[in-house]
Amino acid sequence: MKARHWEELDVLFISGDAYIDHPAFGSALLARLLESNGFRVGILAQPNWKDPEVFRTMGRPRLFAAISAGAMDSMVNHYTAAKKIRRSDAYTPGGIAGKRPNRAVIAYTAAIKGAFKGLPTVIGGIEASLRRLAHYDYWADKVRRSILIDSKADLLIYGMAETALLEITRRLDNGEPLDKLKNIKGTAFAAKSCPDDAIKIPSFEQVSVSTEAYNQAFKLASGQENPFSAKVLIQPHGSRNLIINPPALPLSEAELDQVYDLPFTRQPHPSYNKTIPAFEQIRDSITSHRGCFGGCAFCAITHHQGKTIQSRSQESILREIDNLSSQKNFRGTISDVGGPTANMYGLGCGNPEAEKICQRPSCLFPNICKNLITSDQPATRLLETIRHHKKVKHTFIASGVRYDLLPMQQQYFADLLQHHVGGLLKVAPESTSDRVTAVMRKPGAEIFTRFLEQFRQHSHALGLRQAVVPYLISNHPGSTLEDMIEVALYLKHHRLKVEQVQDFTPTPGSLSTCIYHTGKDPFSGKTIHIPRTAKERRLQKALILYHRAESKADVIEALKMSRRKDVAQELFSSPQSKQTNQKPRKNRKHDRSHK
Ligand code: SF4
Repeated sequence: MKARHWEELDVLFISGDAYIDHPAFGSALLARLLESNGFRVGILAQPNWKDPEVFRTMGRPRLFAAISAGAMDSMVNHYTAAKKIRRSDAYTPGGIAGKRPNRAVIAYTAAIKGAFKGLPTVIGGIEASLRRLAHYDYWADKVRRSILIDSKADLLIYGMAETALLEITRRLDNGEPLDKLKNIKGTAFAAKSCPDDAIKIPSFEQVSVSTEAYNQAFKLASGQENPFSAKVLIQPHGSRNLIINPPALPLSEAELDQVYDLPFTRQPHPSYNKTIPAFEQIRDSITSHRGCFGGCAFCAITHHQGKTIQSRSQESILREIDNLSSQKNFRGTISDVGGPTANMYGLGCGNPEAEKICQRPSCLFPNICKNLITSDQPATRLLETIRHHKKVKHTFIASGVRYDLLPMQQQYFADLLQHHVGGLLKVAPESTSDRVTAVMRKPGAEIFTRFLEQFRQHSHALGLRQAVVPYLISNHPGSTLEDMIEVALYLKHHRLKVEQVQDFTPTPGSLSTCIYHTGKDPFSGKTIHIPRTAKERRLQKALILYHRAESKADVIEALKMSRRKDVAQELFSSPQSKQTNQKPRKNRKHDRSHK
């Protein structure tokens, strides 16, 4: 502030993450955006929430405080699926845990209100976004109020915040009072009155005591997620109404390019003297697009980033690569080019009229919509151009790949296998039991098997020793011990070994969490099995890791309980050859040898 001769800030950001001036981090990106629009911005990263003086370090901001828990929900960041405390935090220097409070948005908002009486507060980020309605909280094992009500913040921004935050800042800067900011897309607020044409969903009081009301509220709210046609949603909380405006419109290519062209240093704040694991992971990666139209039931991304794919132009991506490759630590490897799903770059709905009123949560499930543009040309052209960049030696794809799109994207698939896998390709079937994938809204085993066969055949033909690492979830709603036995047998038959299992965590706001809480699918009304006991959860996890010696006793118990001892011998027979032992390895060709 001194160097810039600023006597005060316009906006003070509070973040639960360390400050990394990189476009992958929300606070840094939004701060740069406001800065480029002429506002004076400061970021208070991981402040000690128990000390009001820390919040006064940069003085009282002129307009408002923008508060976020960081890139993750603070409860997900702090606790495992088994509700045990995590020992590290990837978003903190040195990976040290404990630098942010539980329910960070609420704690920071209270601290700011204590430090600056009457200062407007705007909450955002994934924690605020996905807890905007009354929601089931796994850690408290009860339905909590909207985080806007609990935090007593003035405004909540949900989804990607650029347009809403800029509008709030400009209007407050123009002297509009806070209580006039009621019509901004992508925001929520509390009020006594409500608009006439709004969709009213069951109140907090109703959903907290009735699972039927909860499911009804979830279903009604899901119907208002289309940014082109959604109506205002209202959920009463006591004597007040939570009012949720329709989602913000997706950014255009030019708008997204502008955001990524901001002058990020791409470095953590110089005061840190320890590495930040999350930064190390994304330091040499490039975000090519946002959004995902997969609509997986457990995923927060569709709810947060939206279903519409927003892609950057190739030129903007290349400018970022020029910038990245001129940094002194760059060694010629781009660790990822992607977004929530790598092979959705440049894709979207091919029927704008249908898109405006579309109510499908997924363009891929239960079948691929006829309106979906699936061409792999934008992505293949982009990757080819990056391969020809004079300072780039290798480009890998670490973002997930939707393999049900690959049959329509054969060139992308071929290029991916030949140039961008780096030995292991992570894909996320999440389960190979069709009963479970139907609940997850994922493609079933048949599609995964076809992908796996093609992956192996092509890799073999290329003389490349590379393997698929499947990501699987245990204990997802709908998953029984029988389903997990089916998964274990699938892994055995297909010579796949899983080293890590994601145990289902009911994170706020997802469809899977709704089903976990209510025991019913809110759309079909069907009762769904929920693995709740510690024993069943342990056995399900053990089945995916059946090949480990420490899992054997649990696997035998699971087989006994399910009357499937007939498959014990098959599961425990000596391992077959590994999926990759197909051909002596040729020297892996250097990416650039294909120029
Ligand atoms: S019409 Fe089809 S392609 Fe378009 S948004 Fe809806 S589901 Fe997706």
